[in-house]
Amino acid sequence: MKTGEIAALQKEYLMPTYAPGIALVEGSGASVWDAEGNEYLDFVSGIAVTNIGHCHPKMIHAIQDQVETLVHVSNLYYNEKQPLLAKALAERSSLPGAKCFFCNSGAEANEGLIKLARLWGSEHGKYEVITMRQSFHGRTLATLTATGQEKVQIGFGPLPEGFVYANFNDLQSVEDSISSKTAAVLVEALQGEGGVIPANPEFLSGLRKLCDEKGILLLCDEVQCGMGRTGKWFGFQSYDLQPDAFSLAKGLGNGFPIGAIVAGSTLADIFQPGHHATTFGGTPLACSAALAVIDVIDSEELLANTMMMGAYFVEGLCDIAQKHKKWIAEVRGLGLLLGLVLDVPSAALQKKLQEKGMLALATAGNTLRLLPPLNVSQEEIEQALQLIGEACEELHEEMAALSPNPCQCGMGE
Ligand SMILES: *Cc1c(COP(=O)(O)O)cnc(C)c1O
Repeated sequence: MKTGEIAALQKEYLMPTYAPGIALVEGSGASVWDAEGNEYLDFVSGIAVTNIGHCHPKMIHAIQDQVETLVHVSNLYYNEKQPLLAKALAERSSLPGAKCFFCNSGAEANEGLIKLARLWGSEHGKYEVITMRQSFHGRTLATLTATGQEKVQIGFGPLPEGFVYANFNDLQSVEDSISSKTAAVLVEALQGEGGVIPANPEFLSGLRKLCDEKGILLLCDEVQCGMGRTGKWFGFQSYDLQPDAFSLAKGLGNGFPIGAIVAGSTLADIFQPGHHATTFGGTPLACSAALAVIDVIDSEELLANTMMMGAYFVEGLCDIAQKHKKWIAEVRGLGLLLGLVLDVPSAALQKKLQEKGMLALATAGNTLRLLPPLNVSQEEIEQALQLIGEACEELHEEMAALSPNPCQCGMGE
């Protein structure tokens, strides 16, 4: 089918929750192809999901082998892939006594994390969760309420009780939000959907101290910044932080749906039989996919590659920002979770790049989010810089005319 046909079919039969422009039919590494055969450099990676690139051979073999052996048995029975994956995540988390629960998505992982915090606090009447403004935690009723953005909440009330919002990177604001009912603080080490905003180190270390003093849990949403995206296994490790528990999804299965809660010793044994469950969570197939992802990140040294390619990309982006400082404000992020922050809306730049054969993500109005796979090569980064540079040249007059306040370029941290 060609794009026009697919679009017409979609318009008739799919709820219009998304408004796609191109139809993708094939992928390999950092490249994807549309229904007309055009190639794109994919710096969206399915929104930080295909971290080891499209159709990695180890991923293909792991899934193929498992499909031919056993796909699903339910959690009523042991399936060895589950504890093997849990062990791999627990070891990499560096949380003492860590244990996992597997589910199917980021929202489901966060929903479970919230339940875990509430069950922990229930003895002492603590149930409130403090989350950050501009955060993103998912689209279920509890997680859209946890999300500190009104745009995802409007029309869905009444919202569940027990969520309080504080300002990201503002420790005083969190402290002011604490009450005798506070069970936990939930935070992203780097706000992805909120505009690629890294936490300040003092904010996270201050949060840990504050939570310890007040007897409150510190939870991290690692759905986007986990699994190597920031150059460490988990985003909080970029800050030497130890949360009490964290959630994972997106990059965990490289596109095979799987989410997880990883909890340190305080929370590892709170859920007992009957407290929490999910039919599809941690199937042999999903866990095999995630085990292949971990194997590839280890054996191809992708954490090191993420740091190296991230630094190289930032350097090139800063040069571009400097040339267009009338309308580009800064480059920020960690590892390969980067944002080119404009003083003007970023949609036109995204569109121009797509026309040139590169996919990037317009986020939070004025930010271009760049998420190459973690095994991206230097040549591919150079190609991206070339395309972004050209697109910025071509848009310069238009964007400069829109710009309200020209400002200096530099790393945001
Ligand atoms: C994408 C995302 C979620 C939601 O994950 P889903 O799999 O779409 O439910 C939650 N938290 C963060 C930080 C995310 O980026």
